[in-house]
Amino acid sequence: MPVLRSAFIALSKNRLLRRFCEQTRFGRRMSSRFVAGMEIGDALRVAEALNHQGMLVTLDSLGESVSSEAEAQKAADIYHELLDWINARKLNANISVKLTQMGLELSPELAEGIAVSLAEHAKSLGNFVRIDMEDSSLTQVTLDIVRHTSARPDLHGSIGIVIQSYLYRSQADIEQLLADGIRVRLCKGAYKEPPEVAYPAKADVDKSYVKLSEMLLASPIYHGLATHDEAMIAAAKAFASRNGIDPSRFEFQMLYGVRRDLQRKLVGEGYKVRVYVPFGREWFPYFMRRLAERPANVIFLAKNFFRN
Ligand SMILES: Cc1cc2nc3c(=O)[nH]c(=O)nc-3n(C[C@H](O)[C@H](O)[C@H](O)COP(=O)(O)OP(=O)(O)OC[C@H]3O[C@@H](n4cnc5c(N)ncnc54)[C@H](O)[C@@H]3O)c2cc1C
Repeated sequence: MPVLRSAFIALSKNRLLRRFCEQTRFGRRMSSRFVAGMEIGDALRVAEALNHQGMLVTLDSLGESVSSEAEAQKAADIYHELLDWINARKLNANISVKLTQMGLELSPELAEGIAVSLAEHAKSLGNFVRIDMEDSSLTQVTLDIVRHTSARPDLHGSIGIVIQSYLYRSQADIEQLLADGIRVRLCKGAYKEPPEVAYPAKADVDKSYVKLSEMLLASPIYHGLATHDEAMIAAAKAFASRNGIDPSRFEFQMLYGVRRDLQRKLVGEGYKVRVYVPFGREWFPYFMRRLAERPANVIFLAKNFFRN
C-alpha cells in the first residue's frame, strides 16, 4: 500500500493528467464523491444540508500554489465572498485556507497580508479562519504567519492552524501554540515526507496522534480532532470521559464524502462534528490525496461510476 500511496501523491502533481481530469465531464463525475461542486453555490447548498443534519462545516475553495499576486488576490476574494455568504445565509461554517493559494511561495509577506485581511473580515462577522498545513517545507513559515496574526490582540481567536501528527516536531509546536492560546486542528498528515522529518510507520503516526490529541483535549482552548480513524476517535472519547472534559469543549472533523456513517453516529452520540467541504474547479490534487489515503477508493469510485 505505501507504493500506491506514493504513486497517487506523485500523480497529484502531474500537470497533463490534472488538465485532462479537471476539464472533462468524466473527471468531474469521479470527483463528486469528495468535492461538493464547482461553484460557491454548490458548496453553500452542501453546507446548509450538513447544518440541517446537525453538523458544522468548514469550506475550502480548492486550489494550491499560485503563480502571480493577482491570482492570489483572486483566490482570497473567493474566501471574502464566502465569509459574506456564510453570514448572509446564517450558516454554521468557517473557512479553511491554504497559504500557497494565497501566494506563500511568491512572498510570505503577500500570504501574511491576505491571512490578516481574512482574519479581520472573519472577526468582523464573528467567524474564524483555519489555515491548513501543507508539506513540511512550509511548516515553519505557516506557523510564523499564524502566530504573528494571532498575536494581534484584535485578531486573537479569529485564526487557527493545523498540526500533523506524522511530523517529529509537532509536540514542540503544540506546546508553543497552547502557550500562545491558538486553536489547533490535529490531523495525521497527507503529504509524502522523508523519514528525516516524519514517522514512516503508521503505528508511530497513530501513537503520536493519541498523545497530541490528549495534550489538546487537556488544554482550555477549543480544538478540532480531524480523523476518520475509529481507534483515534475512541481514544479521544475515552480520554475526555476519564478527565471530565465535556463534548462541547472540542470537535471531531472529517472530510466531505468520507465515513458519512461515522459522522452521523458521532452527532447522534452528542459529539460535535465539522465536515470539511471542498469545492471549485481545481480539485485534482485534493482528490488524488484522498485516493492516496485509501487506494481502495479507486475501486469504490469505479463501481459507482459504472453503476450510474
Ligand atoms: C477535516 C480534515 C482536515 C484536514 N486538513 C489537513 C491539512 O490541513 N493538512 C494535511 O496534511 N492533512 C489534512 N487532512 C488529511 C489528514 O492528514 C489525513 O491524510 C486523512 O484524514 C486520513 O487520515 P485519518 O486520520 O482519517 O486516518 P487513516 O489511518 O488514514 O485512515 C483511517 C480510516 O479512515 C478511513 N479513511 C481515511 N481516509 C479515507 C479516504 N480518503 N477515503 C475513505 N476512507 C478513508 C478508512 O476507513 C481508514 O481505514 C485533513 C483531514 C481532515 C479530516
